Amino acid sequence: MAKHRSRVRYMDEFGCVAIPKEMSEALGWDTYTRLRMAISEHNEDVIVLMKISSRCSLCLVESAFMERFEKGHICPVCKAKLKKYVKSGDVA
Ligand SMILES: [Zn+2]
Repeated sequence: MAKHRSRVRYMDEFGCVAIPKEMSEALGWDTYTRLRMAISEHNEDVIVLMKISSRCSLCLVESAFMERFEKGHICPVCKAKLKKYVKSGDVA
C-alpha cells in the first residue's frame, strides 16, 4: 500500500480528476463506490475522499465509520444510544 500513497494528476476542463487505478484497487474502490468529498478543516488546499460504507439502518445518516448490524449498518451515534438503552433496560 505504501507505494500507492502519492500520484500527480491534472484536473480536466470539467473539473474531473481520475483516481489512479492502483490506488482504487488498493482501497477496494470500484465503479459504484460512493465517495464523500470534503475540504480539509486544517488545510483548504486539501480535499479528502472518504468511502461511504452505507446509511445507518436507524437514523439513515451516511458515515465512513459504519458497522454491520443485523442485516444493515449502524452509525457510531446510534450504536452508543442503543448500548445506553440496553443497559438501562428500556429495550430487550
Ligand atoms: Zn445512526
